[in-house]
Amino acid sequence: MYKKAIYPGSFDPITKGHLDIIKRSSKLFDKIVIAVLVNYNKKNTWFTVEERIKIIQETLLIENIEAEVVAFSGLLVDFIEEQEANILIRGLRAVSDYEYELQFTLFNSELAKTNFETIFLTANRKYLYLSSSIVKEIAINNGELTNFLTDNTIKWVEEKIKRGNNGN
Ligand code: ADP
Repeated sequence: MYKKAIYPGSFDPITKGHLDIIKRSSKLFDKIVIAVLVNYNKKNTWFTVEERIKIIQETLLIENIEAEVVAFSGLLVDFIEEQEANILIRGLRAVSDYEYELQFTLFNSELAKTNFETIFLTANRKYLYLSSSIVKEIAINNGELTNFLTDNTIKWVEEKIKRGNNGN
């Protein structure tokens, strides 16, 4: 069976934790579609959806990873149906992710119109506590980002801070 997987998230911006999940997924599935949420939980994002897509595409090119990157809004189950995907990928970090992910998975299966399986990949130990929000916090305070973001992504973050339009 052809395995088409969707990896959704806000990716504001993509971190090395996300990248690790994408790399590992690309070895497991035939096709990966990275779905960038336009308005995730109504959170204000630093980067526009176009910028977030651009950063991911740039990163994939540098890292030589094959994946499609698209914007999406609305219900994930509708997007999965539209994409004719049969796998949903989620990354699991510390215990704190579990409660939310379980709720998310149960509701998705309740709402599902097509058959798909949710696959959880555990976070790499190095990135267990890494999130885009932490990265932004570090960035504002001029902390070192090389362990958390790829060099091209760091440039985007630095530029955003320099321009002062990061919503802070
Ligand atoms: P964040 O919580 O960093 O804003 P997203 O909403 O973009 O992340 O997350 C998209 C998916 O990637 C979720 O399944 C999330 O659990 C997973 N993820 C985020 N950061 C990491 C990480 N450091 N390691 C593994 N998975 C992660």
